[in-house]
Amino acid sequence: MLYRRFGKTELPLSVFSFGAMRFLESEENAVLTVREAIRLGINHLETARGYGKSEQYLGAAFRAGVARHQVYVTTKIPPTPDRDTMRRHIEDSLGRMGIEHIDNFDLHGINTPELLELSLRKGGCLAAVREAMQEGLIGHLGFSTHGPLEVILAAINTDEFESVNLHYYYFNQHNAPAIALAHARDMGVFIISPTDKGGQLFQPPVLLEQITAPHTPIAINHRFLLADPRIHTLSLGAASPAEFAAHMTVADQDGPLSDEEKAIFAHLNSRYAEVPDLCGQCYLCLPCPENIHIPEVLRLRNLARAFEMNDFARYRYAMFENAGHWFPGNKANKCTECGDCLPRCPMGLNIPALLGETHDMLYQGERKRLWGD
Ligand code: SF4
Ligand code: SF4
Repeated sequence: MLYRRFGKTELPLSVFSFGAMRFLESEENAVLTVREAIRLGINHLETARGYGKSEQYLGAAFRAGVARHQVYVTTKIPPTPDRDTMRRHIEDSLGRMGIEHIDNFDLHGINTPELLELSLRKGGCLAAVREAMQEGLIGHLGFSTHGPLEVILAAINTDEFESVNLHYYYFNQHNAPAIALAHARDMGVFIISPTDKGGQLFQPPVLLEQITAPHTPIAINHRFLLADPRIHTLSLGAASPAEFAAHMTVADQDGPLSDEEKAIFAHLNSRYAEVPDLCGQCYLCLPCPENIHIPEVLRLRNLARAFEMNDFARYRYAMFENAGHWFPGNKANKCTECGDCLPRCPMGLNIPALLGETHDMLYQGERKRLWGD
């Protein structure tokens, strides 16, 4: 297992973190999963107030003998309207985990300008976090986000945070400027769910397996991320001890991409050129008066057309209108063909037609997020 300095926090984190949001089948399974993570060299456990019994089960692992000093713990709490509520929530988390110190605390889900404003409000929730830091209850402060790039950049630019937990994968590189800015500020960079949100790579289409052979799509995406020294740790949301194995082939691979890996990425990149009416992901078409997240809808179309990632695209598409600010936007069939977006598209795409095609291809019903916050 490789370890990287988590930016200015100076924490030496393993390049894989255990994301404890899916190990909730039973307390026994949770303890075994934590033990396996540690046996593999993972030293960073990440949870959240909103992940059901996750904090409680981490507490069970500590009570069952997992050495507290062997791991760094991150928990995440959404911004609260006032200081006292945040204080209570921090104490709740400490109590559930049965620990006296949170190594790294993330304000969870800074997804909108309003939530960023709420986070920074004078005398508000951040004051409670700072107070807890002075008392030694919290070591470092970061933020997690599923929000638009502008919000992420604005949050980084506040200089309040030492790390950022965000989406960035081979199949979704829109947040690249946030990676660059976080690096320039010497912040820790923690990637959310690269295997699931990064493309459900644990159940890839045959075409993708063929292109990435002799490696797996999971390993190739990890290499894309870990060949970049600006990125420090990737979350693995294992539900059981056996689920770590698929990731460990690259846990010790450091350094730039090999010639073989470069050839695989060249092949992957070349598939995009085959897609008729490929969306270039420039985001210039926004805003849409019907609140359709045009680039994200068309990114899913790109993936389905280029890599036959229809299952992943359907899974994500079903979350539009069902996940609030965690995955904003209406489904593509809400397009009224008003034409507002058309002159803004530098590629001259017939956006309403592409949205209609994508809805027909991907709509199979509705789906909620695993956790609300
Ligand atoms: S044409 Fe459709 S997608 Fe474009 S701005 Fe109008 S409603 Fe939105
Ligand atoms: S403006 Fe065109 S190319 Fe750019 S994101 Fe929108 S649809 Fe895609």
